[in-house]
Amino acid sequence: KANEKESMYLVSEFARDYFHKTLLKTDEGQAIGLSYFKERGFTTATIEKFQLGYSPDSWDALTKEALGKGYQLEFLEKTGLTIVKAEEEKSFDRFKGRVMFPIQSMSGRVLGFGGRILTNDKKAAKYLNSPESEIYHKSKVLYGIYHAKQAIAKLDNCYLVEGYTDVIQFNQSGIENVVASSGTALTADQIRLVSRLTSNMTVLFDGDAAGLRASLRGIDLILEAGMNVKVCTFPDGEDPDSFAKSHSFEELKAYLQDNAKDFIQFKASLLIKEANNDPIKKAEMIRDMVNSISKIADRIKREIYIQECSRIMDISEEVLYNTLAQIGKKEL
Ligand code: ATP
Ligand code: MN
Ligand code: MN
Ligand code: MN
Repeated sequence: KANEKESMYLVSEFARDYFHKTLLKTDEGQAIGLSYFKERGFTTATIEKFQLGYSPDSWDALTKEALGKGYQLEFLEKTGLTIVKAEEEKSFDRFKGRVMFPIQSMSGRVLGFGGRILTNDKKAAKYLNSPESEIYHKSKVLYGIYHAKQAIAKLDNCYLVEGYTDVIQFNQSGIENVVASSGTALTADQIRLVSRLTSNMTVLFDGDAAGLRASLRGIDLILEAGMNVKVCTFPDGEDPDSFAKSHSFEELKAYLQDNAKDFIQFKASLLIKEANNDPIKKAEMIRDMVNSISKIADRIKREIYIQECSRIMDISEEVLYNTLAQIGKKEL
């Protein structure tokens, strides 16, 4: 079993090197992949740091190259790099004609890849990820953690973003304490990775409000892990990547400082806008809010939040405490 995993790591690391070389050293890689990254504003140093790559637009370029170098088809298939069609006795590359983002573990091993399409084909998925495997468990991985871990511990805070390019652009801007959940809803295992390094998280949403509701649920998980959560939103249509690209480091830092709100306050003001004085909605809102507060294990913090909610939502502390007690009973 240990040997099998090691073989999967090795073939993944071969693929990372192959995609990276293809990006920098081949005509196709330069013309298509490298020019795409340059357009996004990524420097050569950034491309090196994240070992970005390009997978040729051919059926089996990587598979052939790897087999030629003595890597076994079994491990190419197990990592999902190669799709084997047994009936036809043929093997195909999973990621063809995509720019490649290697996904690294805390210790820097390559677990899998994200591949981004370059055309505007609306039918094809914009990002394709490696399938679950013995070395790649989506729910236990955070993109960027390898480059972020030291900065997270040192600065005692971690920025959580949605995508690969948000992590990369932040790093290029000089902010390294950033990781992405990359397409999956945030999980308790992912939070555990961060909570070993800091107890403070700042969640940065894309400015499209699409995933806002779902993300709010993820944030309850961070509270349950005993961490402090702040939230920072971006202007309409912007995400951390586009914002960082069009602003200086000073502007970005100032924006994050000025706009990061405590999660409880953020959620309370969001809900109060939605409830809009409708009594039924307002009752739901109170339960929702107190439910979030009930995730906090620390009693003193809970009391402070009850006081703040009472103020923000204009509801007596007594009602909030009663609701908290009801929720507590249900869970026992
Ligand atoms: P870009 O700036 O390259 O368009 P993004 O990171 O801003 O990408 P979003 O649409 O904001 O992309 O999505 C956030 C993340 O969700 C992506 O980085 C990717 O990990 C994941 N994702 C997006 N679209 C898909 C998809 N079709 N299939 C799987 N994962 C996806
Ligand atoms: Mn290199
Ligand atoms: Mn985005
Ligand atoms: Mn984006």
